[in-house]
Amino acid sequence: MNSVIYLDHAATCRMRPEAIAAMTEAMEHTFGNASPSYSIARDAKRCLDNARAALAETIGAGWNEIFFTSGGTESDNWALTGTAEALQDKGKHIIVSAIEHHAILHTCEYLESRGFSVTRLPVDSEGRVRPEELADELNARPDTILVSVMAANNEIGTLEDIGTLCRYTHDHGALFHTDAVQAYGKTDALNVSAVPVDLFSASAHKIGGPKGIGFLYVRNGTRLQSLIHGGSQERGRRAGTENVPAAAGFAAAAKAAFANMENETRAERELQAYFRERLLAAFGERSGDSPAPSGILWNGPVPGDDRLANNISVSFPGVSAESLLISLDLAGICASGGSACTTGALDPSHVIMAVSGDRKRAEGTIRFTTGPENTKEEIDRTIEVLGEALQRIRTM
Ligand code: PLP
Repeated sequence: MNSVIYLDHAATCRMRPEAIAAMTEAMEHTFGNASPSYSIARDAKRCLDNARAALAETIGAGWNEIFFTSGGTESDNWALTGTAEALQDKGKHIIVSAIEHHAILHTCEYLESRGFSVTRLPVDSEGRVRPEELADELNARPDTILVSVMAANNEIGTLEDIGTLCRYTHDHGALFHTDAVQAYGKTDALNVSAVPVDLFSASAHKIGGPKGIGFLYVRNGTRLQSLIHGGSQERGRRAGTENVPAAAGFAAAAKAAFANMENETRAERELQAYFRERLLAAFGERSGDSPAPSGILWNGPVPGDDRLANNISVSFPGVSAESLLISLDLAGICASGGSACTTGALDPSHVIMAVSGDRKRAEGTIRFTTGPENTKEEIDRTIEVLGEALQRIRTM
């Protein structure tokens, strides 16, 4: 067993050996700027374009529909702001779900300050956007230019019905963006020929690639203003000298993630089911009307096709997640809480608030996200530490 038990793979992961090898090779041998026309530059450009083509293939896109960015946050900002600016002559209304990542929600706040209006769609108790509610909103707001719904939620792992939501959006004549940062490389259902989204955000460090690089898929013909201005890189749409080694590392990580997806997902599902069983056996389940003082609440869908295989989100209502996380950290276990430190105070997770409306539940929520290296022994140890911590907290 490793001395550190890393259960925060949705935050970031170790780099895959294939990604390290590809980056090392590019750093040693491909130092050129990809823009000029001499041979060293052409080598860099070739390396960049090979990476672009490999990434495009993973989602069934054309090579010229993939634009490198600095990561998921930039891709999300670009998709929303770029569409809003390009299509404001058609309308100024945008629809997102209430459980999007802050890279989307804070961009919405920015756009509201620039005169756009935004509807945040509620979700059901497991975090799903209801397609009929989207249809009602689209009918009520013919000035809608863009709908953005994430493919998988980063806190509770819910997979959204992107195919239906995209179809309803297109029926209305608006564009559809999905933040696929948590889903990319974990499901092969996100193919842009089968699910014809217009814009798609992905990030390398969530799948074993380097930090600081991602891509935005932009369907050919989509109207989109640039976010970053300067040189003519990325076919004039995203300025700045390209990070060739990072692109090579991203492509190598993606190839490995897709090649190993079946095995990794099977192992993660098994661990997820085991983790859930062990949590329920150790602490019991709290039901809505007869709360057992020590029971847990499971967040998001039960393990299955509607949920990321590596996500376990559990609430200990009435217990501070912060205290639990400190106890876990002291025992060398890395997990994450749902709260965000925004204004100096801890705000309860907007995701748990959206699915339950229950502040105590939100304040007592912990997210564990497993990776290929985690074991059942590590889960056993985590349950043991949680049990000791709960006992200590409750007797204080
Ligand atoms: N979108 C989602 C759903 C995420 O989970 C994250 C990161 O956690 C991001 C966007 C931001 O991605 P990045 O860290 O590459 O900026």
